[in-house]
Amino acid sequence: MERALIKIHGIVQGVGFRPFIHRLVREHDLKGFIKNTSSGVELELDGEREVLERFVSEIPSRAPGLAVIENIETEYGLECGRFENFEIRSSKREAFRNTLISPDICICDDCLREMLTPGDRRYRYPFINCTNCGPRFTIIKDIPYDRAKTSMSDFPMCPACNAEYHDIENRRYHAQPDACPVCGPHVFFMDGEGRACANGDDAIAIARSLLRKGSIIAVKGLGGMHLACRADVEAVARLLRKRKQRDEKPFAVMCRNVECARILCEVSPEEAAVLEGIRRPIVLLRKRKEYEETLRHLSENRCLGVMLPYTPLHVLLFGDDIDALVMTSANLSDTPILYQNEEAVRALHGIADGFLLHNRDIQTRCDDSLCSVLDGREYFLRRSRGYVPQPVRISKRDDLPSVLACGAEQKASFCLTRGGHAFLSQHIGDLKNFETLSFYRNQISHFRRLFDIVPQRIVCDLHPDYLSTETAREMSEEQHIPLLQVQHHHAHLASCMADNALTGEVIGLTWDGTGLGTDGTIWGGECLIGGFETFRRFGSVLPIPLIGGDRAVKEIDRVAFALRHAASCKNDDENASHYEAMLASGVNCPLSSGMGRLFDGAAALLGIKKSAGYEGQGAVLLEAAADEAEDGCFPIEWLEENNTLFFDWRAMVAAMEQRAGAGESTAVLSACFMNTLVRMAEQQCRRARECSGLNRVVLSGGSFQNLYLMKRLPVLLREDGFEVYHQKRVSCNDEGLSLGQAAIALHRLGKETNVSGSTT
Ligand code: ZN
Ligand code: ZN
Ligand code: FE
Repeated sequence: MERALIKIHGIVQGVGFRPFIHRLVREHDLKGFIKNTSSGVELELDGEREVLERFVSEIPSRAPGLAVIENIETEYGLECGRFENFEIRSSKREAFRNTLISPDICICDDCLREMLTPGDRRYRYPFINCTNCGPRFTIIKDIPYDRAKTSMSDFPMCPACNAEYHDIENRRYHAQPDACPVCGPHVFFMDGEGRACANGDDAIAIARSLLRKGSIIAVKGLGGMHLACRADVEAVARLLRKRKQRDEKPFAVMCRNVECARILCEVSPEEAAVLEGIRRPIVLLRKRKEYEETLRHLSENRCLGVMLPYTPLHVLLFGDDIDALVMTSANLSDTPILYQNEEAVRALHGIADGFLLHNRDIQTRCDDSLCSVLDGREYFLRRSRGYVPQPVRISKRDDLPSVLACGAEQKASFCLTRGGHAFLSQHIGDLKNFETLSFYRNQISHFRRLFDIVPQRIVCDLHPDYLSTETAREMSEEQHIPLLQVQHHHAHLASCMADNALTGEVIGLTWDGTGLGTDGTIWGGECLIGGFETFRRFGSVLPIPLIGGDRAVKEIDRVAFALRHAASCKNDDENASHYEAMLASGVNCPLSSGMGRLFDGAAALLGIKKSAGYEGQGAVLLEAAADEAEDGCFPIEWLEENNTLFFDWRAMVAAMEQRAGAGESTAVLSACFMNTLVRMAEQQCRRARECSGLNRVVLSGGSFQNLYLMKRLPVLLREDGFEVYHQKRVSCNDEGLSLGQAAIALHRLGKETNVSGSTT
């Protein structure tokens, strides 16, 4: 008999970890206690060495799905008295200060089985949940996290539920949202005018039959409302587009199961694992070849965003005969997702033919997450429901000061740190919309309260007009917290470094649409050399004059005009003389080195698209058009100015124009364009390595949402001996920017307080 001290580091609080340990301890007949610590949990156990070792070895594989175990330290042979029993020791203060809150998790297999078992007291009950599944973040009003501080406060537990809740052997032990048909929430159906029609199972039956007949139904989910309709009837999907005024943006589809997803799309085993995982993001899947055209009403590119049912209500709605439904966020042009019953009925009048709602309030909006699968794991375009507010660990140290990073503007997010944990917000949206801005501000306060964080620094972008910058400045003044401004692409670089636990200096390819540079011009095709401390602009893309400023971001044929003009190619636009005059005078033609703009210009030049219906559409369609077997390339030239190595795209544009004129296909030329960028990046990195001796390359910025680039550039760089890193835990686009801002601020603060600034 001996005693073991076991320290488990990671995300092991608020995820049903202690009841799990309790059961495992029981199984092995061990005695002792468990308590929470600032970085995880700590156990002291008495038992035979062999049993203790077996116990420890089983923890990682059997832990609850939500737990993230970073490492386990075990010490044997401690001085021991004898423990009489096993107990969970809790200190209120500790628990409070280190609160972690679980994200919302899809219905688990145990609950699913119960729900579909006739005679079970939760048979066909759409709010069934347990310690391992159900709503969390979206129903929490305040901390400490218990039922009274959630939407469930309206539903006092019945004796049966109460007994389960207090029984540590029960899988609903301390499951705050636990409920049953006797004591819990219920669903109801309203018609298009908001008149109540039916409750419970009848409500679900009406919604199902209307959906099958081709109606558009609003369905209340975990973090907001969806608009649902048949995915297989083109006319219905088109009607939804018309009513929602969403002309071109792709729709997400919810499929009954992976087999149904396979009818529409190619699904690799890795993709299936993410689809079926407990977090249930929308996964971008490649459409099956034979459906590339017929699924255009859902998505105009080669991919389709697919998710599987994640609430019990979704499961009941699909039954065993609906295979696929369009499930798009219910919101009106750029406003945040609708999440309250009355508001939804009002706002969706004339859009939804009916409403499948319920009386469990959503406290916090949370949109569906969106990712593709790269190297076997999520590659985020949007990290939101199912992931937020689980922190990203960016340092092993827990004595770091707290910071608030305010992110960018169009894909807004913020990040609050506590110790080595970074808490990133859910998807917020474009702050230029007033309601989105107030949502953003409310969420900052909400997160600060939930995680008990008082920041010692506020960080924001360099751009003075970003509404996030304005918010940061206001908070800084009101609360007397020092402000730090960080250059946009430096923050992208730092985000990828923090994401991969890198220190020191790296070569950073940060490619996106727009970010304000330190010289006052617009950057976006950057090759930086630097780290958390500082950076320099090693290379970029030759600036493109944007004819009419922001108008050129939408009317991308203006960019094509500027490209042709610079490359001395013939331009035959009806506005040619007007544009020429603007370019000659430079009036209202700001210069941009944005990679996104180069993509836009190429898309317009190749006749793929003349004006962009949404940001990044040019790049998305160009990627979709490319012939993946083509490995040709255009000429690459360089221009050195102000110690910066600019990719001079004029030769490329001239070649592209000439070959297009000769009738070469858009598919081949699109591929050649991206191949050129890949080669260009490789050459640039080589020159940066010669200059700096650095061998690590980080890839960040919204342009790397492009999987054509992501499948080729890292391969080429690795062949060249580089170590290549991309974003893994946060998005590569501006949504992931706040993580980089926070990492830079922590580094600065570390230096100021004279401790090592390492953030790994
Ligand atoms: Zn469950
Ligand atoms: Zn009950
Ligand atoms: Fe950016």
